[in-house]
Amino acid sequence: MQDLTEGVTRFQRDVFPAKADLFAALATRHTPHTLFIGCSDARVVPELITGTEPGDLFVVRTAGNLVPAYAPEADGIAASIEYAVTALGVEDIVVCGHSACGAMTALAENHDLSGAPAVATWLRHANASVARTSAAGDVSALVRQNVLAQLANLATHPSVANALARGKTTLHGWVFDIPTGRVQDLTAPQAA
Ligand SMILES: [Zn+2]
Repeated sequence: MQDLTEGVTRFQRDVFPAKADLFAALATRHTPHTLFIGCSDARVVPELITGTEPGDLFVVRTAGNLVPAYAPEADGIAASIEYAVTALGVEDIVVCGHSACGAMTALAENHDLSGAPAVATWLRHANASVARTSAAGDVSALVRQNVLAQLANLATHPSVANALARGKTTLHGWVFDIPTGRVQDLTAPQAA
């Protein structure tokens, strides 16, 4: 905890003054251009990876960067997605998976999750990802398939479906490779 309080002190002394104008502009409104859905993993820091500033990204982070398909009983994730798309009008939505994802590793290697029932239940949102991955035990393949499956889940949300139909937003699937820092865009148009 001491690290955190010292970090806050450093932020107020060194970082905030240099960005005071930005924070003043953001004090009453924000207009982020992108909804970034990433894994809760501590190594995947959206603003660091994308070189963005406060106010640029509307961020949702979940274990395994999973996005449950739309259901009428809305939850916090559905609410955040709807708000980002309808109220904030984000132009782009990124689902970002990453190398060595603990959630994907547990699924790919069929770990015993009986001691973590909430995790086991949550990871069912990756059932389609597992089904799409032909090679059992291949974590990297599952990470990629999972990003694509979550993009499909995202499109089941009425707000997203509506924005896509009107050409107001674009979906992107990324994978961040921790040891190299590279970001692979799974949805980039393939070069001819
Ligand atoms: Zn992860």
